[in-house]
Amino acid sequence: MRRVLLLGGIDPSGGAGLTVDATVVAMHHAEALPIALATTEQSLAGFRRCHAVAPEHWCRALHAVLADGPVHAVKVGLIPDAAILRTVARELAALPASTPIVIDPVLSATAGGLLATPELPAAYLEHLVPKATLFTPNHPELLAVCGGEATRALQAGAKAVLVKGGHAEGATCDDVLHRGKDRIEFRRERLPVGRVRGTGCTLAAAIAARLAHGASLGDACRFAGDWLAQLLRVLGPAASTDAPPRLLPFGRVPPAIGRS
Ligand code: PLP
Repeated sequence: MRRVLLLGGIDPSGGAGLTVDATVVAMHHAEALPIALATTEQSLAGFRRCHAVAPEHWCRALHAVLADGPVHAVKVGLIPDAAILRTVARELAALPASTPIVIDPVLSATAGGLLATPELPAAYLEHLVPKATLFTPNHPELLAVCGGEATRALQAGAKAVLVKGGHAEGATCDDVLHRGKDRIEFRRERLPVGRVRGTGCTLAAAIAARLAHGASLGDACRFAGDWLAQLLRVLGPAASTDAPPRLLPFGRVPPAIGRS
């Protein structure tokens, strides 16, 4: 069994975070190892508060899991503050250099209410982006962390950057993978699904699972993006433009058994 380490936050409303990550990893036939860096208070009405888990506690959990055996990929989601971000970076540095690490920055919540502390974007760029096999910002996150320039993340040491087009406008949703001077565009139809929770977590967790199975970065991004689009098609159009955010229909799609 391929093992995927998940570092992030617990969302008790089930729309995002470690619960979704673990579901996605299981649907991609890998074993999820979730380590909570934070618990959160939130519902479909919005994000209320984030409570950091003491590093001495989650680091012990992490070391216990690593003592069980190797991990084949890592996905990092919500990080409650810059001090914990630096601890995460230190812990990741201790993993074998070949371990794929997907860093999904979380600075705001689809349901509203989660605003990262002011020092978090700069801390991402300085400490965590350099550890990334793949950094996966949407446009607002790219702006906050890298001034809107994917090349800044590459200069900071990320091996690759997937800039997600979900927050842009237009008939297509274009995700762009930047690696060195290469640029691969994944163009998909923009679906009228309205606000959907957990899409960023889902994409990054699916990519991490594909990488754990040995897929190339390009194939993992393509496969995971196509799989997320399938989930969104099953969800169907939003009732109205101001409809409340919805959850992804994991129970209504088959596991992702395809080869990437
Ligand atoms: N809560 C947790 C624990 C998360 O990890 C995230 C995103 O990663 C969110 C909330 C926000 O998710 P969304 O914007 O998809 O609602």
